[in-house]
Amino acid sequence: MGFDDQRVDVSGVDDRRGGGLGGGALAAGGGGLGVVGVVVYVLFQLLGGGSSGGFDVSGLQGVGGATGTGTGETAQQLSDRCNSDGAIEKYDDCYVIKSYNEINEVWTAELQRRGARYSDPRLSFFSSATTTGCGRATASVGPFYCPPDQEVFMDLDFLAQLQSQFGAQGRYAQSYIVAHEVGHHLQNLFGTEEKVRAAQQAQPRQTNALSVELELQADCYAGAYGKLADEHGNQTITPDQLDEALNAAAAVGDDAIQRKTSGSVDPDSFTHGTSAQRRAAFSTGYANGDIDDCAFSV
Ligand SMILES: [Zn+2]
Repeated sequence: MGFDDQRVDVSGVDDRRGGGLGGGALAAGGGGLGVVGVVVYVLFQLLGGGSSGGFDVSGLQGVGGATGTGTGETAQQLSDRCNSDGAIEKYDDCYVIKSYNEINEVWTAELQRRGARYSDPRLSFFSSATTTGCGRATASVGPFYCPPDQEVFMDLDFLAQLQSQFGAQGRYAQSYIVAHEVGHHLQNLFGTEEKVRAAQQAQPRQTNALSVELELQADCYAGAYGKLADEHGNQTITPDQLDEALNAAAAVGDDAIQRKTSGSVDPDSFTHGTSAQRRAAFSTGYANGDIDDCAFSV
């Protein structure tokens, strides 16, 4: 079980950790917030924050203990560490990079089979805050994909914190999160993202509903990856790991997060879908490993 090989390719990784941009930066705007992007938004609302766009959860940051923060490493050092014995299981960053490698392999093969072309997104690790084509982002938005950069951004300390606080636990949950973000990359390659953004501008009242559609499709793509990777042996999945993915999808449901942070639920404000919807979307993709099952029309 697990990955078909232990080779970790860091060539698509931008390691911005230790970049020292500091706190107080603005969150990424309109760039397709990530799988758990809403988490801290809700937290922040609860904590008495306010205006959209300016998230500051400094009180939540600085939680250490995540393994494998390779701050200051060169690409060669990162590669050497991630290719050392047991590194993939030992270090969060190496596991995330390995997941990213296999996700790219699976989508390259699958799109080729379908007569389409896949190009790898890049993967960026940052700490605290970073500048992106979607604006300045803080870790507080959670993992996210920025379409203009074609890049997945992730603060691993913050990811670990979210996993521990919201119950999206387990190694495979991390693969699910990366696969969800790469799902947004597929939406970018397919032009879906652009269509949905246009539809949101044309129908502002549908903004949240359309966002939910986009997020559920990314969950469905993550499920399709899970199935394809298992079938082709890239990343085989045990029943327990499937549960980790389903639990993670449920844990980052809007209703679960709102209940946890504010004690009440406001469906109109949902942007990612409910726990039940997210589990169902992952399951839909996982059932056949067919991205056509994830289609929605805008
Ligand atoms: Zn998302």
